[in-house]
Amino acid sequence: MVKKMFVLTAALSGILLISGCSQKKTVSEVDMTSKSRDVFAMDTFMNMKAYGSSADIALSEAEKRILQLEEVLSVTRDTSDIWAVDHSEGSEIEVSDDTAIIIKRAIEMGDRTHGSLDITLYPVLKEWGFTTGDYKVPDDKKLQGLLREVDYKKVNIQGNTVKLPKSTEIDLGALAKGYTGDEIMRTMEENGVSSAIVSLGGNVQALGTKPDGSKWKVSVRDPFAPDTDMCIIEINDKAVITSGNYERYFTADDGTVYWHILDPEDGYPADNGLVSVTVIGDCGLDCDALSTALFVAGYDGAKELLETDPSFELILVTDDRKIYYSEGIADSFTNISGMEAEVISLD
Ligand code: ADP
Ligand code: MG
Repeated sequence: MVKKMFVLTAALSGILLISGCSQKKTVSEVDMTSKSRDVFAMDTFMNMKAYGSSADIALSEAEKRILQLEEVLSVTRDTSDIWAVDHSEGSEIEVSDDTAIIIKRAIEMGDRTHGSLDITLYPVLKEWGFTTGDYKVPDDKKLQGLLREVDYKKVNIQGNTVKLPKSTEIDLGALAKGYTGDEIMRTMEENGVSSAIVSLGGNVQALGTKPDGSKWKVSVRDPFAPDTDMCIIEINDKAVITSGNYERYFTADDGTVYWHILDPEDGYPADNGLVSVTVIGDCGLDCDALSTALFVAGYDGAKELLETDPSFELILVTDDRKIYYSEGIADSFTNISGMEAEVISLD
């Protein structure tokens, strides 16, 4: 396992305020009627469920917000902010507030995870075919050449102005859905909803409790049998975000399996002992960034995060089929798999 140390500063915890995560309101009165909406966006089947008399309007507004975010964050649409940045040939590009918030947080999370999260991996992801589904194992020389341009520290952002070196390109795929979840929740609240749950692929985000005051039950998939649930946790007002090696992968002619989360150190699929990482916390953007980063960093990096920042809870699955979860969710965690599960012991 690769050891990665995490540096946390007090300043970083304060950043939550500007990261797009909404402040929660108290639930006063709740209507039991629920409405649900399916949306396909960001390459993901999304389902939203909202309770109360304003559920319908809130869902419509949330759907608009999702499509608006997809429009600016997409790496493949030639009208998006990210497309403009990636095709800027070194010139300065003005981006929307949403894009600026995510890029700034991605850089901070890159620092915090010692480079495990690196939004400039995009050219390498393209070479593997993870962006198109036209998969191939890259030629080593080609990979080394592309890796020389990978470094999130090359992303220069001042206010809403972004500048990248000519051969560097970014992709916010590791964080975009977490931010979208935060924005859906914010839109729900603004439209009078205080009880809602959304599922955006492997991401679940909950607003408030269920209308009867009980907690939401959220299942996490078994990475070894992705159609089966592995465990259930009970939460309210939280994001539960999973990165797994089963989400997107291909099998090469020699039988080797390659997946879509890459280690910025060598440009190969991250293989540091973990096959699934679930991060539970208040902010979807942060949880999404960390789920990808900790997948790369491995068990020791994940443990280090818990030791330095008690605001997150984790569920890890190792490649030798063991589940490790953080102490803080011990009472709300139910293992329904045949795998052994134990609490992550901190030093
Ligand atoms: P998913 O999108 O499957 O829910 P993640 O949130 O873990 O999963 O994001 C994975 C995506 O992030 C990849 O598809 C790729 O676009 C991008 N990516 C892969 N490796 C990294 C990395 N080390 N740092 C930043 N982004 C990455
Ligand atoms: Mg992620």
